Amino acid sequence: MPARYPTRRPTEAESDTSDPFDPPADLLNRPWIDVHNHAHTLSWADRERFSLAGCRSMVMVAAGHHWTPYRPVRAEDVRYLWDDALARRSSIERDHFVEATLAVGVHTGVRVEDPDALLDAMGPYCELEEVVAVGETGVTPTQQGNAWPMEEQRAVVRAQMALADDHDLPVLLHTPYAGGGTDRSYRPGVGVPGFETATGAGRERVLDGENPALESVEHDIEAADEAGLAEERIVASHADPNNVDYLLGSTDCYVSFTLSHSWLSGVTAADVAAAIEEYGSERITVDTDCANVLRTDPFAIKRAMLELYRLGVDEADVRRVVFENPREVFDVAG
Ligand SMILES: [Zn+2]
Repeated sequence: MPARYPTRRPTEAESDTSDPFDPPADLLNRPWIDVHNHAHTLSWADRERFSLAGCRSMVMVAAGHHWTPYRPVRAEDVRYLWDDALARRSSIERDHFVEATLAVGVHTGVRVEDPDALLDAMGPYCELEEVVAVGETGVTPTQQGNAWPMEEQRAVVRAQMALADDHDLPVLLHTPYAGGGTDRSYRPGVGVPGFETATGAGRERVLDGENPALESVEHDIEAADEAGLAEERIVASHADPNNVDYLLGSTDCYVSFTLSHSWLSGVTAADVAAAIEEYGSERITVDTDCANVLRTDPFAIKRAMLELYRLGVDEADVRRVVFENPREVFDVAG
């Protein structure tokens, strides 16, 4: 038989009898939406990576104790975070051509001294066109420094859910991870890379049942029901194998898989593929949670799109998860 190729000696190409490969070209140019990041804290170069990888729109979350230097944290410190993100937002769009929207909220990872002052101030922020969500917030089983009793946290979460409902905004829920990405713990005195205050200040626990991470989410959903917020207006970020069956199987919430710190959470595109297979793609989104205080990756969603295809997920489901669901829920990328 004549050789197919003019190579000096036969190569593997000669014996390759597989069907011609039809690459998923659509995925290379497909825009995507990051429903949870803190890109206003990133470097210019990291934000540029979002544009280079095809990010069309993102929700920058202006809540988080990592960026308030004072302890205890006061309402005015959190207010500063909202204002800082608001001030940077439009230049981020001009610099990077990515639609940059905001979520404002009170995160409960550190106790805030006078949360009512924040809740009183939040309404006018929720009115802004730039603000597309309330959050991230949600009961957390441990606090950095002073503990925040669960009932008080829950009241703050519930009040934010009521505000979201009043302003017809979705809530970006922070859910705690149950597991970790590594079986070994980090060196004492060094700690987890990124949480810069984690080694010095203690962590106090306010929930200590069998599964405090899942209990937290159950409290959140009860708080939403009490506040009159429909479950389908909740996007539960940091979905993981510990909470995904509850959230997709027993509630009407959306989940968002955070894909850029798998080293911390153990959550990867394989978890997204498994959830799509089990529950369909209708209530699934993805995010990066990219932030300057943690080892994170602006390319995570783009990588996951290709990986989901490799893992057997249909292109239509990939599109739904990275673009269509976020566009509908957050009313962005119009
Ligand atoms: Zn976050």
